[in-house]
Amino acid sequence: MMAPAMTTAADDRLAYASLARQAVHVDRRLPAGALHRLEELAPADGDGTVRLEFRIDEQGRAWVRGHAEQPVDAACQRCLERFGRVLAVDFDLCIAREGEEASELGAGVDVLVAEGDTVSIAEIVEDELLLGLPDRLCESDPCPNAPPLSFPAAGAEEKLAGSPFGVLSKLKDSDA
Ligand SMILES: [Zn+2]
Repeated sequence: MMAPAMTTAADDRLAYASLARQAVHVDRRLPAGALHRLEELAPADGDGTVRLEFRIDEQGRAWVRGHAEQPVDAACQRCLERFGRVLAVDFDLCIAREGEEASELGAGVDVLVAEGDTVSIAEIVEDELLLGLPDRLCESDPCPNAPPLSFPAAGAEEKLAGSPFGVLSKLKDSDA
């Protein structure tokens, strides 16, 4: 069973137990800015997309597996330079009711605690996207935009002296 892709509010409630029993797949577009906590750290740069596959296991527990993508405009935490990135995360979460023993689920299981009979898209994907946000967005190491640790003038002078342009500039100086 496949629900049609549609734009949705991030706080739309999904009745997870019945969706899991019916093994429903949900495709949604999230309007830019719908995920408020993510928005504070990395403002959306366009709509996001979410794909959710609900299922039920042998113990009758509801699970949601899925993929979320959100284009963001995020700041590198090291140099504060801003970068456009598409955050993309995959997840597989066992949906537990509030108060249920999480220890029953065993190690290595990601648990989403639901307050009642429903979960929102934001509750499912926002933490995952926040975890997917890298600390450092510059691709090379060390972060090329980070503030320099040594005096840059000394290094720059050395480079200039060793380069042909350095020699030229010295010749020019002596001409003048
Ligand atoms: Zn950086």
